[in-house]
Amino acid sequence: MNVFNHPEFANHESVHFVHDQASGLSAIIAIHNTNRGPALGGMRMPGYKNSDEALTDVLRLSRAMTHKAAIADLPLGGGKSVILGDPKTAKTEGLFRAIGRFIESLGGRYITAEDMNVSVSDCKIIAQETAHVSGIAAGTPSGGDPSPMTAEGVFQASQAAMLERFHDRSLSGKLILVEGIGKVGWPLAQKFVHAGAKVYVTDIDPERIERAIAELGVTRAPDNILFEQEKLDMYAPCARGAAVNTENVARIEAKIVCGSANNILEKPEHGEILRQRKIVYVPDYVANCGGLIDVFYQDHGYDTTKVLAHVHRVAYERNLEILYLATKLDHSTNAVADAIAESHFLRKS
Ligand code: NAD
Repeated sequence: MNVFNHPEFANHESVHFVHDQASGLSAIIAIHNTNRGPALGGMRMPGYKNSDEALTDVLRLSRAMTHKAAIADLPLGGGKSVILGDPKTAKTEGLFRAIGRFIESLGGRYITAEDMNVSVSDCKIIAQETAHVSGIAAGTPSGGDPSPMTAEGVFQASQAAMLERFHDRSLSGKLILVEGIGKVGWPLAQKFVHAGAKVYVTDIDPERIERAIAELGVTRAPDNILFEQEKLDMYAPCARGAAVNTENVARIEAKIVCGSANNILEKPEHGEILRQRKIVYVPDYVANCGGLIDVFYQDHGYDTTKVLAHVHRVAYERNLEILYLATKLDHSTNAVADAIAESHFLRKS
């Protein structure tokens, strides 16, 4: 494995392979760029098949975090950490303490937070070894969990996409598929229902679907709804990355793609294919910026009104600007977002 020749290597400042024999910890921390400030990004433990898969993920995700912080005008850089192993059996206090000690040794260049299968309470264990942990502030409405604010951002981004596509931001009567009704997908589906949309849900966990049908007033998604012409107004991927991929990009029939998942596009060129197919794609890190903004304010004087205003400025207003420029210049929305973000982080001011 050669990191410098890796297809996802994007001039990362440093990539750390972390091992602790006593706790069984094997992890990778990638720091993509710190020009704007310390590299903040969550820690995840999805159950990788091997270290190659983990490396690919951490390189992609840390780069996206730099773009997200830059597009959101936050004084932060981008980083991410991934832990190998089965999250059902390998999560121990010793493991989180070991990664905490390593994060401390980085002297503040990397700040961690919760992410897939790493909870706020896991982060509190990490915080016993290092000060460089965000998203554990108890004084916020969600007790540190940024997911509700992520959902709010995706909701605002959806309204911007509606305005771009249908010249009306209203979601009333729109048909929306939410894929993954977890910490973000659940409150998001709830917001869509309140806004008058007809919401289909899908999840690999059948119990969650049953619960969502009972509690949220949503409908189980019929098989293949994503590929049926004239059906869906919006597809909201809120589970896996690469939801838009080589296999499905030419077949997706939704008029808008906007969700919380990181790295929705398997490859950047899929954004161009969506554009040619007249599908409005909201760049993932613009749609899901609410979580990062929430986490930032947890360490900088949390005030819900201020956080909501910031989320609106990025997920709605900046997103509208990106969608407008993409149409005007005949570029994919992800290329436009990347260019704007890069203009904010490539040069140190
Ligand atoms: P979560 O683990 O709480 O929920 C994910 C849900 O998706 C679960 O219900 C799971 O069963 C389901 N799922 C998994 N694979 C699926 C598949 N192939 N098809 C359908 N459903 C599937 O995670 P979350 O915190 O809600 O995050 C969702 C996505 O949003 C992730 O990609 C995450 O990286 C991203 N994201 C989350 C936040 C946040 O604040 N939580 C912020 C930014 C980005």
